[in-house]
Amino acid sequence: MNNKCTKFESLFLFRNETELEEHLKECPDCRAEKEKMDKVSELLQEVKPYYAQQRKRSFTRLKVACILCFGMFTGLLIGYFTQYGYNTTSSAYYDTEQTTNDYGMPIDSYGLISLN
Ligand SMILES: [Zn+2]
Repeated sequence: MNNKCTKFESLFLFRNETELEEHLKECPDCRAEKEKMDKVSELLQEVKPYYAQQRKRSFTRLKVACILCFGMFTGLLIGYFTQYGYNTTSSAYYDTEQTTNDYGMPIDSYGLISLN
């Protein structure tokens, strides 16, 4: 049966550095574990610049896409208002006075819908 020490993770996470160092001096299992972790850390440090560069590049692409979408939307709005005029929709509803009679409904002398 393998009695491998499992204290490394708990010491690393919940105890201070000196306690971990003292345990590492006397425990070969945890030393091996720490060496493994150091290798991973070195690897991460090595890869970090490339990853940051790629993130920066994709963020730039996102910015360009946002600017293009905003430009297209603004262009469509400007095109719409130059072609149909700014007050087209509002004049249909607000400038010409419309009553319920225009919709073919029976109204009384106050202009309200007559129900009888
Ligand atoms: Zn240990």
